[in-house]
Amino acid sequence: MQSFVLSDSQREENEQAGHTWVSSPVLFGVLALLALLVPVQALVSGVATGILHVIVGAGAIATGLAGVLKFAPTRRRGWYLLLAGAALWLLGDLVALFDGGTTTGSLPALSDLISLCAYPLLASGTLDFSRARGDNRDHGAVIDALVLTTSLGVVIGVFLIAPLAESSSLPLATKAIGTAYLLGDLFLLGVLARMYSVPSARSLSYLSLAAGIALMLASDTGYQVSSLIFSTSRSSGLVEAGWLVGYLLIGAAACAASMRGLADPEPAEPGNTLSRRRQAALVLALILPGMVLLADGFASQARHWPIITAGMLLVCLLMLVRILWLISTVQDQSVRLEGLVRTDGLTGAPNRRTWDYEVNRATEMAREHGTSLCIAMIDLDKFKLFNDSKGHQAGDMLLRDSVAAWTAQLRPPALLARYGGEEFALLAPGFTPLQLATVLERLRQVTPHGQTFSAGVAQWDPSTDPGRAVAAADEALYAAKRAGRDRVVIAGDEPPAGPPTGPISFTSITVKADPIKPFDESGPPVTSRRGRRRVHRMPSFEMVTQPIVDLRVHQVCAHEALARFDALGTSLPTSEVFRQAYREGFGDLLELAAIQAALDLPGRPPGHDLYVNASARALMTARMRTGLPDNLSGITIELSEDPGDIDMNDLVRVINDLRDRGAGIALDDVGAGAQEFARLAMLQPDMVKIDRTLVVGCAVDPGRTAVVRGLVVYAEMMGSLICAEGAETAADLDHLAALGVTHAQGNLLAEPKKGWQTLTPPPAFDFAPDPPISFAPATSFEPGTTFGPSNTFSPSNTFGSSTPYEPASTLDPSDPLDPSTPLEPETSWTFRPPGYDDPDATSPMVIRRDPEE
Ligand code: GH3
Ligand code: MG
Ligand code: MG
Repeated sequence: MQSFVLSDSQREENEQAGHTWVSSPVLFGVLALLALLVPVQALVSGVATGILHVIVGAGAIATGLAGVLKFAPTRRRGWYLLLAGAALWLLGDLVALFDGGTTTGSLPALSDLISLCAYPLLASGTLDFSRARGDNRDHGAVIDALVLTTSLGVVIGVFLIAPLAESSSLPLATKAIGTAYLLGDLFLLGVLARMYSVPSARSLSYLSLAAGIALMLASDTGYQVSSLIFSTSRSSGLVEAGWLVGYLLIGAAACAASMRGLADPEPAEPGNTLSRRRQAALVLALILPGMVLLADGFASQARHWPIITAGMLLVCLLMLVRILWLISTVQDQSVRLEGLVRTDGLTGAPNRRTWDYEVNRATEMAREHGTSLCIAMIDLDKFKLFNDSKGHQAGDMLLRDSVAAWTAQLRPPALLARYGGEEFALLAPGFTPLQLATVLERLRQVTPHGQTFSAGVAQWDPSTDPGRAVAAADEALYAAKRAGRDRVVIAGDEPPAGPPTGPISFTSITVKADPIKPFDESGPPVTSRRGRRRVHRMPSFEMVTQPIVDLRVHQVCAHEALARFDALGTSLPTSEVFRQAYREGFGDLLELAAIQAALDLPGRPPGHDLYVNASARALMTARMRTGLPDNLSGITIELSEDPGDIDMNDLVRVINDLRDRGAGIALDDVGAGAQEFARLAMLQPDMVKIDRTLVVGCAVDPGRTAVVRGLVVYAEMMGSLICAEGAETAADLDHLAALGVTHAQGNLLAEPKKGWQTLTPPPAFDFAPDPPISFAPATSFEPGTTFGPSNTFSPSNTFGSSTPYEPASTLDPSDPLDPSTPLEPETSWTFRPPGYDDPDATSPMVIRRDPEE
């Protein structure tokens, strides 16, 4: 028994069920005891034989039932049907004890009728197993079983059924019953053959069951033979033993632990549609009718030729079907295999092998017709980074989605193949390099997941090997990579200018074929007549700065840089200029240019942070991020708009990258837009800039006060700074400071101007954080109070005075403020209203909060 091999699934299942290989020693013990009775029947005769038969049979079936209940397999129906069939057989035998099992006159014996009813049950039980074991997939197995059954049918028909029918001594009922038994046996044999063809491990349960049924059939046939030869209805000892052992084997099949797996589907062995054993069985089935004919010819001058011929024809027909089916299967498989060989498994794109073949074909065609042939090499940018940050699965998805998106843009004969890794090759017969570059621009625009690619284009020279064109395209691709990625380079051309990294000249920059990013507002993209190079005229602008004051120490600690377009002849407001720039596809570049200009402003006071504005959508573009300097320390980036439909997680990643480069992050206009809480929660800025709509008039507005207080709580918990924008009255400023707002910025303190405004304190600043100010009407701003020249500092301080402010430095690089000039903190960078140090001291700049004063 140990030699039987369990399939892994069966073993696993057995282990899970806590069963060992022979898991039911008790049941097997019972069966062994019953088996001891089998030889005994040779010693007894008459009724005793019958009783012994019933005891062994009933015992075996009952034990089998106990096995089914013990193992409780998921699919029990087959087992119940089988045991019920065996029980009917036994019932027939039991009844035969009383009616003698013989037909009387023209009526068949009741015992025989009962026994015959067992066949459908046994057959459907066995078929249940075959079906559950996935036999339905294997049409070949069905045909094979039919061939085998037909062939055996010829043998049985000629040697058993025909003599039975021709016998003159037997009554008709006996002939009919005998024929029915034989046909039932044949049918059961066919079903068993079908079950055997299932490609699975032959477990103990399976073998025991098959042997049991086969033994029953053999005994039946033996009985028929003996009754034909000896014209007796009595079974021989051997036949009787066969029946009994058959019952015991069927019972044993249900008691083996592997019975649970018998009905379980198993995967078909791939490609093994015709095993050796099956082949041998089919050969035997093919030659068997011929051998029967030979034997019949010797025995009776081939009297039974009609049966044999019919059988032979049927076998031939079945074999023909089998062969045709096999051929069609092989053809299907070869088509599928060819597909597998020609395409890349991950993306479904033609693979390198197909590429090589197609390139050769295309060059031949191009040579023959004298047409142009271009090749492009495409490589996803920073794909390793994408893989590393989002995972290999996401990387795979990007490859798949990219191929799908790109191929949707292409029509034959253009062919996109996966060249290897994240590199793709595009074959474009009939295209000029410029046309192919235009197609690639289209592909760039549909590249999914916000990713970009670089590409090189080359034209095939018919006097050279196509490999040269591939190499040239590859070289152009690497030129595109070197020039900053996210662009297309035609072999032999200069790589197009990348995002500006040098000082901004405020004249114009040339950008090649900028993508219209998905977030761009709809509008006609700017394309030049030549279709390849797009020239954007950068509007000229100048930079101004506005101080940010630390309310806790009364010092200007930072400056926000702002681009101004109106000063240089543009009548459009700044927001409109940016809007138009975005429509034309270079909004992010304009933002970048503004930041570059701010960074290049000469003479920034040491230790003072520079605040620059950037929109979320600009930060999402690769060229914006690569255009920013690697070291951003001392720079705070103000996120100046709602992220809109930009994925917050993507934005967080970008923000983290900027932080890694040393940048601080401020959230601009908090309180003015949508998604404020999401922005605060996810971006966790270093500074929260409260929008002016919340600031103006907050001193007398409990609603605004409450919101500001909430933001202060947020800032305190997160350890971030909080800056009020647009503070325009002293009352509001006092009030904000009392609420815990750490910073302020606004025209009251200093207007945006050219140069750095650090030498003068703000003109109006009555700041007394202690004791806290209650925002009763007492603190309200007196409409009559103005902050005119009388509130300015002494004339030596030019800030806010009527004399025009002379910026310490201008944007003209020829006139830089010498940054090496030491700046004296007390006199240069701080402002301390006298009233602050000495509450009793009066000063022209002090604004009294007390209206009575
Ligand atoms: P560059 O912009 O210079 O092209 O940089 P890159 O990171 O895109 O190029 P690099 O050659 O450094 O990295 C390519 C990566 O592609 C490395 C490899 O792990 C990954 N890769 C290659 N084939 C597959 C694939 O089938 N699936 C996934 N997920 N990753 C792949
Ligand atoms: Mg790459
Ligand atoms: Mg690569």
